[in-house]
Amino acid sequence: MSEFDYDLFVVGGGSGGVRAARIAAGYGARVGIAEEYRYGGTCVIRGCVPKKLFVYASKFSEEFEDAAGFGWSVGERSFDWERLIDAKDREIARLEGVYRRNLERTGVEMFDTRAVLEDAHTVHLMSDGRRVRAKTILIAVGATPNVDASLPGCEHVITSNEAFHLSDFPKRVMVAGGGYIAVEFAGIFNGLGAETTLIYRGEEILRGFDDDLRKALHEEMEKKGIRVICGDVFKSIEKTADGLVGTTRGGETLEADQILFAIGRRPNTAGLGLDAAGVAVSQTGAVIVDGQSRTNVPSIYAVGDVTDRVNLTPVAIREGHAFADTVFGGREWSADHSLIPTAVFSQPEIGTVGLTQAEALAKHGGVDVYRAHFRPMKHTLSGRDEKMLMKVLVEPEGNRVVGVHILGADAGELSQVLGIALKMGATKADFDATMAVHPTAAEELVTMREPSERIRS
Ligand code: FAD
Repeated sequence: MSEFDYDLFVVGGGSGGVRAARIAAGYGARVGIAEEYRYGGTCVIRGCVPKKLFVYASKFSEEFEDAAGFGWSVGERSFDWERLIDAKDREIARLEGVYRRNLERTGVEMFDTRAVLEDAHTVHLMSDGRRVRAKTILIAVGATPNVDASLPGCEHVITSNEAFHLSDFPKRVMVAGGGYIAVEFAGIFNGLGAETTLIYRGEEILRGFDDDLRKALHEEMEKKGIRVICGDVFKSIEKTADGLVGTTRGGETLEADQILFAIGRRPNTAGLGLDAAGVAVSQTGAVIVDGQSRTNVPSIYAVGDVTDRVNLTPVAIREGHAFADTVFGGREWSADHSLIPTAVFSQPEIGTVGLTQAEALAKHGGVDVYRAHFRPMKHTLSGRDEKMLMKVLVEPEGNRVVGVHILGADAGELSQVLGIALKMGATKADFDATMAVHPTAAEELVTMREPSERIRS
C-alpha cells in the first residue's frame, strides 16, 4: 500500500485549485480537495461573476435615459435590490453546483472544510480533525480583502465580500480605493441610484494603467455623477444615528450609509501552517514560487492569487492547468504572464493589452502614439456626453504594436481579440492591412493613419 492517501491534495476550491484537481484526476491521480467556504472560489462566489451581474443591472438606468433619443418613451421605473440579490444568488448557487459536479465526475474527493498544512506531506482537515497524507500538495487558497485595521471605526466598513449580500440598498455609498474593484463598485452603486463618492489616496485612479485612460475614466465617472476625490484618505469613521460619517485627512466630512473598502487584497496564508511545512513566503505573505509554481519545498506547489503574480481568474486557471499537466501528465509547460489582456468593468469599460505609453517609452526608447478620442455613434442620438478613447502604441524600430488601450463600450470584449493579434506580434502595417468593420467603434483601430505623437526619449 502507498504511504500516501492521495497523489495530490489541493487546499482551496477556487479557480486555480479546481482546475488543477480536475486535470490531475483526469490523468489517473488520486486527488482530494478541501474548500472552507464555497466551491468556485472568489471569482464565482464573490468576485468576477456576481460583480459582472451587478454591472449589467446598473447599466439599465442609462439605457432607459438614452432610449428617449431614439424615439422611446420609457414609463415609470423602479429598482428592487432584493430581487437582484435573489436572482444573483440563484445563479451563483447554480454555478457552484456545476463546479461540484465537475469535480465529482472526474473522481476528485471533496472535503467541505478548512485545511491546514502540518508538514511537507500532511494536511489537517479542521472540520473532523482528520489528517491526510499526500505525495504532492497544491496551495490554492487565493486572497482576501484588506481593511486598514489602524483606522478608527474600521469595524463599520464593508469590503467587496459583504457588498454582494447587503440586506438594504444603500442610498449613499463611499468607496475607498482606486484599483479596478473600487472603480467597478463605484460604477455599480452609482448606476443603481446611490449617491456615490470614490476616495483614493493616490494622484489618479487605476495605478498601473495607461495615464490617458486613467484621466479619461476619471472624467467620465464624474460626468455620470460620481464624486472622485484623489490624494486623500479616511482619518476616522464614526457611526451615527443617521448612518456613517467619515473624516478625511484633507479635512472633508463625508456621510454615507455604507463605506466600502477596496484598498487591495492579501494572500490567504495566515494560519495556513506554512511555517510547519517550511514553505517560504514574501513580506506580504505570498507563497514564493518559481516559473513552474514550485515552492522551496519539493512536494508543495502554489498557484493563483496566493502567489501574488497576476491576480486574475484566467491566470490562476492556467497556472493550475500547467501544474497538473507538468506534474501528473508528463507534459511540461508553464503559464505565460506576458501580454495578458484585461478588462475593467468600470462605466465606461476599459479593455487593455500590452504596455502603457510610459512603459513602451521606457522599454523601446520611443513610441508612436495613435490616439482617437471621439463621441461614439450611439451618443449622437442619445445626446449623452460620453467619449470613447482608443490608443494604439507602436515601437518605432520594428513597428510592432506593443500596447492597445480602450475606454468605451465593449472594450473588454475587444481586448480579448486584440490580445491574439499582439501575442502573434502584429505590426502597425498588419493593423493597416486589415479591412475595417463599418459602422463600428473598433474600426478606428485599423484606420488611424498618422500618429498623434512620436515620442522619443
Ligand atoms: P480563489 O478563487 O480565491 O480560491 C481560493 C479558495 O480557497 C477560496 O474559495 C477560499 O474559500 C479557499 N480557502 C482559503 N483558505 C483555505 C483553507 N485553509 N482551507 C480550505 N479552503 C481555503 N478576476 C478576473 O479575471 N476578472 C474579473 O473581472 C475579476 N473581478 C473580481 C472582482 C472582485 C470583487 C474580486 C474580489 C476579484 C476579482 N477577480 C477578477 C480576481 C479573481 O477572483 C481571482 O484572481 C481568482 O479568483 C483567483 O483564483 P484562486 O484560485 O487563486 O483563488
